[in-house]
Amino acid sequence: MYLKELSINGFKSFAKKGEFEFSSSITAIVGPNGSGKSNVAESFRFVLGEQSVKSMRGKRGEDLIWGGSEKIARGNRAAAEVVFDNSSRTFALDFDEIKIERVVHRDGQNEYKINGSVVRLKDVQELLANANIGSTGHHIISQGEADRILSAGPKDRREMIEDALGLKVYQIKKQEADRKLNKTLENIGQVESLRREAAPHLRYLKKQVERAERSLQVQEELKKVYVEYLRREDTYIAKNQDRLQAERKQPSQKIETIVGTIQKLKEKLDAAPDTDSNTEALEKAQANLRECTAAWQEANRVVNQIEGQLSFLKRKQQESSAAKVQPQKMLPLNDFEALIEKISAVAERVMKEGEVSAIPALLRNIVTDLKDFIARNKDKAVAPVAVDLSELETLEKQKQTTQQKLNEAEAEKQKAEHVLSELQSSKVTELESTRQAEKELFNLLDQRRQMESVVHTIDSELKVLERDRTDFKDELQEAVALIGRGVMDYCNLKIHTADGRVYSDEELAKEDRIKQRDRRRELEKLKIRLEELGVGDTEELLKEYKDAKERDEFLEKELSDLNQSVDNLQALISEMQTKLEEQFLSGIDKITIEFDKFFKLMFGGGSAKLDRVKIKKRNSDDEEDEVVDEGVELNVSLPNKRVKGLEMLSGGERALTSIALIFAMSQVNPPPFIILDETDAALDEANSRRYGDMIEALSEKSQLVLITHNRETMSRAGILYGITMGADGVSKVLSVKFDDAVANAK
Ligand code: ATP
Repeated sequence: MYLKELSINGFKSFAKKGEFEFSSSITAIVGPNGSGKSNVAESFRFVLGEQSVKSMRGKRGEDLIWGGSEKIARGNRAAAEVVFDNSSRTFALDFDEIKIERVVHRDGQNEYKINGSVVRLKDVQELLANANIGSTGHHIISQGEADRILSAGPKDRREMIEDALGLKVYQIKKQEADRKLNKTLENIGQVESLRREAAPHLRYLKKQVERAERSLQVQEELKKVYVEYLRREDTYIAKNQDRLQAERKQPSQKIETIVGTIQKLKEKLDAAPDTDSNTEALEKAQANLRECTAAWQEANRVVNQIEGQLSFLKRKQQESSAAKVQPQKMLPLNDFEALIEKISAVAERVMKEGEVSAIPALLRNIVTDLKDFIARNKDKAVAPVAVDLSELETLEKQKQTTQQKLNEAEAEKQKAEHVLSELQSSKVTELESTRQAEKELFNLLDQRRQMESVVHTIDSELKVLERDRTDFKDELQEAVALIGRGVMDYCNLKIHTADGRVYSDEELAKEDRIKQRDRRRELEKLKIRLEELGVGDTEELLKEYKDAKERDEFLEKELSDLNQSVDNLQALISEMQTKLEEQFLSGIDKITIEFDKFFKLMFGGGSAKLDRVKIKKRNSDDEEDEVVDEGVELNVSLPNKRVKGLEMLSGGERALTSIALIFAMSQVNPPPFIILDETDAALDEANSRRYGDMIEALSEKSQLVLITHNRETMSRAGILYGITMGADGVSKVLSVKFDDAVANAK
């Protein structure tokens, strides 16, 4: 016994709760027309997941809910609950009892529950299909529906038979697999489309990444050359700056000293006496000397004259005294005066020139003139005359006075000569000193020039280094921009010699600049290569490529999984198909046997069988028709009648044929329960008995719920439920006894 209970609440005419217990293998539901018996059969369909409202005689979902009557207001929900025994685990759930519940609300919303847990319709369908309770309802034959299998087309009939054979589970699995396959193929299409769409960008990114990788290599190379270049350049500049600063110190200091000395010398030269005033003083002294000399000469001439006269007088006196011994000679005065004149003129000229050095020559001339005078006048001497003594005395006195004047003139002249000489020697000294100072100044200026030239050369070199430093800073900035801050490592770089020794800074600074220029050229080449590769933000690019690649790999993997799923699904579909075909073939053979058996039983002879037929699609005239499906045809032959087609059968004969087929189907694969709603309505008494016998036979394998007005049928039931409907339009359930039931049914 599988079917245990049914409870209906708010469903159609069951405004209030109605409950059924199915403790017998045959339960009959009886009651007058319109009391709600078929509503009970439909509540079974409803709770088992029927989606066609039409098959439950409604148009919309809300037609299933109590619609209200004059006395009782309409309901908002219809609920039905069915309980199955699962102690033999007919249902694939580990519970002894399976309770399936469905509720529909006025807004059309449905709720399904299995053992109190909310589930999907699909879960209910799967659970039932596994227990051979299919949704086509071959086990629920509604009123007038027994004929459905006869009137159905070959394809629908095939489906009903498949359902009855319990192949629904395979169908569901196959449909599910088909649906999944389509979904998977759709997904494959989408994934392939995604991959196709992303492929050009991925290819582009790949190329970019290859470029970026080449660029990274170049950057690495660039960094290597850069750090050595920067290390050497920095050291070269720093060391040479230090050297030049040191070299500059000495000449700078020297220039400072020289400038000081020059300043002093210039001050000294500026302070030297004025040449004009000096010359003036000198001229004055010369004029004074000339005057003094003239005065001295005059005095001397006078003295000489007086001495001459005195000497003459004295000689004359001697001569006169000696004339007595020796005769005297006389010379004309004008001759003598001419001589003096001549000597004076020479002396005058010499003195005028102011040349002291000319004096000895002057004296020599004077002596020569005198000697000539004497030589010329030796023979012209005239005899002395007698001397006047008073004249002698006067002359003596004059001589003293004149001598006095001469002495004074002499003193004056010497003084003037001294002054002149002093002036002259002071001028010479000053000139000498100025010349010396000027010479020194010249030397110093020359030295300063030399030193300045040295400093200038150093400054030029420093300027070049300064420019090198600026270039270096620019280069460093560019290096950081090109390869990042890592290039700053150049500071700590140790450069090794061929034999592994570390170069000192001094050695680095001394390297031939050509080599550094070569490195510079190498740098420029690498920079150009880097620029040609033209990669932007490498990190960003690598990340983008990584993401794109991962996504593509993910999609590839997805595609492979999907293809694997396609294979699996196709295998599953083919497996299901094979099972369906195999089981359908064997099932249909079995049903044919049973059908023939029941048919013979019902009609007391004749024959019935099921035939598989090809369902073809009509193509154009010149093309062959295409086989699209397979269906099932019924072929019956009544005893003692030639009539063969189903359409030729009477109503009773159709009912008997359909019952025979339904029973045959149930016999081959018995469902847990079968509900038959007035399947027996058209049977006469004899056939009602045969029907009753078949029911009993059927009830051995399936539980039966029979809605009937047939007495014979009622007599075979273990439990009888009566359905009544009062003035309120509400169906009620009550247990009835057979006699009551028979009475009730009428
Ligand atoms: P018969 O023996 O003539 O086949 P029955 O006992 O099978 O009759 P049903 O067809 O099950 O009776 O019940 C029909 C009754 O149910 C009708 O009276 C109809 O008005 C009532 N009914 C159907 N749907 C609803 C609904 N939504 N609300 C209220 N009553 C309903």
